[in-house]
Amino acid sequence: MIPPAALQPVLAWVRRTEPAALELACAEHPDPSRTGRASDVVRLTGCLSELPLHVPLEMLALGARTVVLRLDGCTGAAATREHLAPLETLAPVLHPRGVRLATTPTGQRRRPVHDAAHMPLPRRALLLLSDDDGAPLPDPLLPSHERLRDALAGLTGRPQASSADLTDLAGPGLDLVATGCEARGVCVRTCPEEALSLITSDGTSTLTLDPSRCTGCGVCVAACDPQALTPVGRHPWSALLGSPGRILARVPTRTCRRCGAPFTTSREETSLELCAVCAFRSATPFGSSVPPEALARLPRPVADRLRGAS
Ligand code: SF4
Repeated sequence: MIPPAALQPVLAWVRRTEPAALELACAEHPDPSRTGRASDVVRLTGCLSELPLHVPLEMLALGARTVVLRLDGCTGAAATREHLAPLETLAPVLHPRGVRLATTPTGQRRRPVHDAAHMPLPRRALLLLSDDDGAPLPDPLLPSHERLRDALAGLTGRPQASSADLTDLAGPGLDLVATGCEARGVCVRTCPEEALSLITSDGTSTLTLDPSRCTGCGVCVAACDPQALTPVGRHPWSALLGSPGRILARVPTRTCRRCGAPFTTSREETSLELCAVCAFRSATPFGSSVPPEALARLPRPVADRLRGAS
């Protein structure tokens, strides 16, 4: 993702200038200068596929009337379109102040291209006048899901009043199913938004997803070693404004007699008392296994015993 702090100068510039049409282009775009007459073009510091989804919405909330995301110069346009698709679904709700994806230049006029890292100073700043009036800038330290929720709530009015309009529109959060979950908790630890939780109680581990926090980054799906998590769609935009947690998996769990860590078992394995790590250490106290070449030189009974241990 493009770091939020790197986009703060652009947001400050939008608040000061309130552009009629703001076009965002990838850092690698060969020439984004061809645009419509009233457009301002900003070249980002990264690819549009790395643009946090809250940024275009915040630009609208800060005064831009339209935000155009330029896919015409993006080398990975298909992946970028998939990343930005949830914003497109919002167009009917945000119209006429919407977000649009463009696959061709929006005009033939050549306009200066601003560099996101070096946005121009407004006239008021050059005259040393204050430009503090207007909506406050988003806090770059807030997590993505909070910025997305705040921008959405700001654009669509009071959360309760707008949620009905958003229930049919696919938002950014992934709808997940878990099959073969082993309750290892890797997804919980890697989720940057703390959208997943794993709670062990009364011999059962429960994996729960909070759709209002999920930004659809897919990190949890990639990190799951048993590949138990599968995306099956998107939660609606209304989930961002508040949604009950969804239980993804319930896994029978025991507590290791030696280290006290929870570990999962199948219902048939009720006799297990040690987790996999403690079971291995118990069988091989020095924590290592004997290489096959060494086993081949040992007396057979000894080699068989060591093989069984590992
Ligand atoms: S896709 Fe997974 S890792 Fe990313 S925010 Fe959603 S739950 Fe967290």
